[in-house]
Amino acid sequence: LKTFSKGGIILPDNKFSANCPVETFPVPEIVKIHLSQHIGAPAIPLVQVSDRIKTGQLIAKAQDNVSANVHSSVSGTVIEISEMTNINGQKSQVIIIRSEGDTWLESIDRSGDIKNDISIPAEEIIRKIKDAGIVGLGGATFPTHLKLTYKGEKKFEILIINGAECEPYITSDHRLMLEKGKELIVGIQLLMKVLDVDKAFIGIEENKKDAIDYLTDITGSKAKIRIVSLKPKYPQGGEKQLIKAITGREIPLHKLPADMGFAVQNISTVFAIYEAVQKDKPLFERVITVSGSNIKNPSNFLVRIGTPIRELITKAGIKDESSGTIISGGPMMGKAVEDMDVPVTKGTTAVLVFARNEMRKVKPRSCIRCGKCVEVCPQGFEPYIFAILSENEDYENNEIKKINNCFECGSCTYVCPSGRPLLSFIKEGKKNVKNK
Ligand code: SF4
Ligand code: SF4
Repeated sequence: LKTFSKGGIILPDNKFSANCPVETFPVPEIVKIHLSQHIGAPAIPLVQVSDRIKTGQLIAKAQDNVSANVHSSVSGTVIEISEMTNINGQKSQVIIIRSEGDTWLESIDRSGDIKNDISIPAEEIIRKIKDAGIVGLGGATFPTHLKLTYKGEKKFEILIINGAECEPYITSDHRLMLEKGKELIVGIQLLMKVLDVDKAFIGIEENKKDAIDYLTDITGSKAKIRIVSLKPKYPQGGEKQLIKAITGREIPLHKLPADMGFAVQNISTVFAIYEAVQKDKPLFERVITVSGSNIKNPSNFLVRIGTPIRELITKAGIKDESSGTIISGGPMMGKAVEDMDVPVTKGTTAVLVFARNEMRKVKPRSCIRCGKCVEVCPQGFEPYIFAILSENEDYENNEIKKINNCFECGSCTYVCPSGRPLLSFIKEGKKNVKNK
């Protein structure tokens, strides 16, 4: 089985919700829709308090350059526009809507038919992706239309679809591959057209054998799209790691995949592209896994953007109400959530709840130079040095050592026998290098 060669760790996958079909989550009474749910400038509001709107209506417009449109996920009345903390702990402007019924824009095709019109011109596909406000749904949230039109050092040659889902617990992409495989293949064909490539690979870890078998079955006649089984290893979903695992090609630290002719898209993003282009449906809902040791019924929900995470947790059920740590995203790269009333955003892949005593609370000790963090770093760094330099506020040397190329996978922190919070030091170091 294929995998990347440098570093990485084998984690218990704990995919408790792997066999739970996607359930449509009820429309919430109130949604809070952040205008900064993507990398780049916040969207600019187009509505005012008291405006009545429909599900799927554009409520905030992307600014120039890097930004993304934002749409309403419910029909109803705007009751407030203010500033609030989002799921990542950052302040952003938010539009609060009280839902009344669920009246969708007439232009959205709500039929269950699978459409397969790939004769649409490439420019039109990109325009629809941009209009729909699609961003990288694996968590990166970079506006997709920009990623598709980035002019790297060479022409795109290969499309890589990230079906690795290497973070423990998360199963939303797995379920999409099983339940929406045919739509995904149409989405991939649209992307191949836009990128003008004739080869695509879908990389899937072997712990999702049913998805590998199903997609292999339905792509049988389309030799241009190949399914690649991967040995489960974290962080295989990292773009450079996935490219290495599938093609054997190494992307140098200072280059982007696009510079070497690769385009990488995640499964949830491909599904959103299918819906935008074939169904004229903007991005206002997504599949989210709710799981973790303190959740009674691990689930995959199709959730409207702006739904408070409290509602997701309540529906899945908490085992021990008196204790719990909530994480938005996976246990390795996710962020702790302090406030249960923050809403889900486009980048929310999962909401995990753990018993408090389960979270590692080792008192950090000195580095014993065991080298374990070096062994597991998929970028070939010496993470302990980043940490020491950050502690010493030596940002110049951290920059020289390319700390900004750390993509915060957390593998180094996970293996450190001295309990050193390496990733926290690294994040601090990166921030300071940027502000230097
Ligand atoms: S794993 Fe921890 S103790 Fe070992 S070298 Fe890295 S920082 Fe030091
Ligand atoms: S968090 Fe950064 S330094 Fe640590 S293992 Fe991952 S890429 Fe390497």
